[in-house]
Amino acid sequence: AKKKGKNRFELYNSHEHGRDEQDLVLENDLHKALECGELLLYYQPQLDLRTNQISGVEALVRWKHPERGLVSPVAFIPLAEETGLIIPMSEWVLEEACRQLKQLHLAYPKLKMSVNISAVHFLQNELVETIDRILQKTAVDPRYLELELTESTLMPNAPFAIEWLVQMKQRQIKIAIDDFGTGFSSLSYLHRFPIDTLKIDKSFIRHLSSYRGEASIVKAIIEMGRSLNVSVVAEGVETEKQYKFLKEQRCDYAQGYYISKPLLFDELQQFLREWNTE
Ligand code: C2E
Ligand code: CA
Ligand code: CA
Ligand code: CA
Repeated sequence: AKKKGKNRFELYNSHEHGRDEQDLVLENDLHKALECGELLLYYQPQLDLRTNQISGVEALVRWKHPERGLVSPVAFIPLAEETGLIIPMSEWVLEEACRQLKQLHLAYPKLKMSVNISAVHFLQNELVETIDRILQKTAVDPRYLELELTESTLMPNAPFAIEWLVQMKQRQIKIAIDDFGTGFSSLSYLHRFPIDTLKIDKSFIRHLSSYRGEASIVKAIIEMGRSLNVSVVAEGVETEKQYKFLKEQRCDYAQGYYISKPLLFDELQQFLREWNTE
């Protein structure tokens, strides 16, 4: 019921703002994209700041549109959410990411795969079954799968979310809170969520050197991670200065252009080979 309610709200909303023709064309195309296999995944490496090894990758979806070229998820995920296409799309993402993880495990058995879960998908009752089915089908070790959910997905649905997270825990699947720090989540709630990782939003990393405020927020999140006994990932790490600061503060992992941009699967394999022989 929740999901329907949300969809209706979003449709109403977009109607109010006047949906342009562009959107409708894109929506039609998005249907086809799924059928014609125009979606593809990029993988962005995550660096373990303690060991200097690549510990995992985040799967990031792209749409290879026949005329428009590579379309950013920022442009089509909201549309996919409004139309419900997000569900088949997310299922494809999850399955593809697991398939590729299985292959990566032949050479890198401890590599983690992080997959973004949208709020609409999260609120869908069948998601747990879908996850089970995909894990079974791909024979991936669930301990190396991490699902990323934002604070704004989890917090407004706290009792449901906690129950859901417990189900993931039972399956040994890892959970990360994405864009941490942007959602005004109630800190008193956080310790009740059985999570494994906090991802510091890139907006805090971006201004690390220019404003003192950001540095203290980042330090506070790293400290909080330590006291909650969860890992902390900094996203959007672009400079050596940011990298050094995070290492100094003993942040666990870093992800960003400074380490690598998101890569195609073949490029990722090349990257991993080179990284490990350095
Ligand atoms: P996100 O989960 O916060 O992903 C991080 C975004 O930051 C990615 O953008 C990534 O390419 C970008 N990024 C990585 N390193 C840097 C850096 O050093 N500097 C800067 N400025 N940006 C960096 P992308 O791939 O365009 O994805 C945007 C958002 O779309 C994601 O934000 C996520 O919310 C959503 N998204 C991407 N893939 C999926 C997916 O498969 N499913 C769902 N539901 N959402 C997805
Ligand atoms: Ca993410
Ligand atoms: Ca993020
Ligand atoms: Ca984000």
